[in-house]
Amino acid sequence: MSKSILLSTPHLGDLELEFVKEAFDTNWIAPVGPQIDAFEQEFCQVTGAGDAAAVSSGTAALHLALRLVGVELGDEVFCSTLTFIASANPIVYQGAKPVFIDSDRTSWNMNPDLLQEALEKRARIGKLPKAVIVVHLFGQSADIDPILQACNQYDIPLIEDAAEALGATYKGRYVGTCGRIGIYSFNGNKIITTSGGGMLVADDSKLVAKARFLSTQARDRFPYYQHSEIGYNYRLSSIASAIGRGQLRVLPQRIASRRRNFMIYTSALGNLPGIEFMPEANYGQATRWLTCLTINPQAFGADREQVRLALAAQQIESRPVWKPLHLQPVFAECESIGGAVAEDLFTNGLCLPSSSNLTDEDLQQVINGIIEVHHSKNR
Ligand SMILES: *Cc1c(COP(=O)(O)O)cnc(C)c1O
Repeated sequence: MSKSILLSTPHLGDLELEFVKEAFDTNWIAPVGPQIDAFEQEFCQVTGAGDAAAVSSGTAALHLALRLVGVELGDEVFCSTLTFIASANPIVYQGAKPVFIDSDRTSWNMNPDLLQEALEKRARIGKLPKAVIVVHLFGQSADIDPILQACNQYDIPLIEDAAEALGATYKGRYVGTCGRIGIYSFNGNKIITTSGGGMLVADDSKLVAKARFLSTQARDRFPYYQHSEIGYNYRLSSIASAIGRGQLRVLPQRIASRRRNFMIYTSALGNLPGIEFMPEANYGQATRWLTCLTINPQAFGADREQVRLALAAQQIESRPVWKPLHLQPVFAECESIGGAVAEDLFTNGLCLPSSSNLTDEDLQQVINGIIEVHHSKNR
């Protein structure tokens, strides 16, 4: 049996170990010091963000973001439904309630018209949400301008969950830097990794300073430990920051490799009946963090699950598109606005192996696996 081909794996460059060695050599190992400061500064240079706070995960960054915009017990927060559960869990950590919004077909991300309508309705009954979380899925930007416009009209802060979309652009800007606060993830499966970590960015450096304060147990400025607020232990370690500095330097290559995977998949599979790839919206450039497609079972001759299992039998890991959050048992009581588009993408959508270190042979093996399923069902 040949080696297995995984969905999305870490891909280290040449400089990570040097920065880690620098941390060791200078004994700056604690979650404070020059590696963290440098990682934050370099992250701002790359993304154009005003200021950045490095934290232990994307989930932690999102939790801090909700704290910073004042989400509390009993509030509601609007959130994309087609996403990973970490986009919504921090809403519940705050004792607030998520309301889920469906995707559009062009970007697979939050439908701006649905958001606008929902906010208008809520304004009429005096029950506006405290914040909106828009997710940039699979490396592609949501349609930010109309979403931001709808939020601004009612003075609701927009939080961007760009965990999957570092390096994706919207009208020339890096996603994550367009709303009030943006968050990113450096989990092992993301486009760059610190082995685990996250970043919170905002143009307002007071907000970011507050995020750092809350992420280090909210210590008031006294020689002894005094606290007037409840904080968290969410700061990123120096070692993880050192890895992140190396990874940031190869981000352009990682994006190019993932986009190349997508090109190879589309040119080999794009003409098969019933196969459609996630479209690239015309307002920006996607990173193609994951290459995703939908399979129409009638036209293709096999459904998504048959394809996934056939690949799995060859040690190839693929994964259904995210199960929408409004279908998750844990959110069964939550309101959702629309949902049919996300449900359809979940039913028929598949994410293909997309690591930046896949070889041409790996890609060809995945392609052959999918073509074989089609041929065996259409003989
Ligand atoms: C990965 C991910 C997160 C959470 O990031 P962690 O660093 O794993 O906590 C949040 N939102 C989305 C959309 C993600 O894909």
